[in-house]
Amino acid sequence: MKIANVSGRAHLVADGRLVDVEKASGGRLPADPTALMATLDTVGELPVPDDAPPLEGATLGPPVPRPSKIIAIGLNYRGHAEESGLDLPEQPVVFAKLPSSLAGPTDDIVIPGGRSRVDWEAELVLVIGRRGRHVAEADAWSHVAGVTGGQDISDREEQFRALRQFTMAKSFDTYSPLGPVVTTTDELPNPDDLAVSCRLDGETVQSSRTGDLIFPVPALIAWLSRICTLEPGDLVYTGTPAGVGDGRKPPRYLAPGNVVETEIEGVGSMRNTCVAGAAYG
Ligand code: ZN
Repeated sequence: MKIANVSGRAHLVADGRLVDVEKASGGRLPADPTALMATLDTVGELPVPDDAPPLEGATLGPPVPRPSKIIAIGLNYRGHAEESGLDLPEQPVVFAKLPSSLAGPTDDIVIPGGRSRVDWEAELVLVIGRRGRHVAEADAWSHVAGVTGGQDISDREEQFRALRQFTMAKSFDTYSPLGPVVTTTDELPNPDDLAVSCRLDGETVQSSRTGDLIFPVPALIAWLSRICTLEPGDLVYTGTPAGVGDGRKPPRYLAPGNVVETEIEGVGSMRNTCVAGAAYG
């Protein structure tokens, strides 16, 4: 099952068309996409109305627009740790992204004027479906409603300004494109091994598989839920593979006009265009 956000309402993708979940279920299911994540396993078959619009060409919002929290993992692929010049972590490296930074799968990435070290990070994103604390690794996937794609756009200048400033460096408005849809794990041949890629103006800059994660999904859910309760709709950005701009020689960064495409196997592609925003500071 695939769920999209159209104008703030959850839609089931059925045969390439968008079905309003609340209307088609006669009010049994919530219209709010974030709230639906708690009951995704009860959606089942819904009637497809004659006037259901096509997915293709539709403008979608982030499929989970109002998570209670967004947790993100740093240095979770060997290649990315190496290009960052850092040792492999012995436990997950974790930071937060603010929910206000979310953007839809075709929304613009707004780079404030004067920021010259803005970078891309394609990531698999987990969507929590069931509340959990102290979740065992063996039960971890049962707490995941589905997966989606994410960009963890990062202002490296802010990130490395003093000590480490991950949260704000990765939380400028529009710096968390999400989507295009949430795909439930039963549709994935192997949810622990999905292709992740990023293209910049058509050139592949990142290409890996989540089978290469240092801390795979079950380990992440178990580790995170030792500290905080994971709530339905919460998002976990699982880390980015090698190929970010900051690790290149010479480094390469995003600028207005660049098009960032992010693709996750079984989820689909996002296409976000960088545009210039108001001057920073
Ligand atoms: Zn990241």
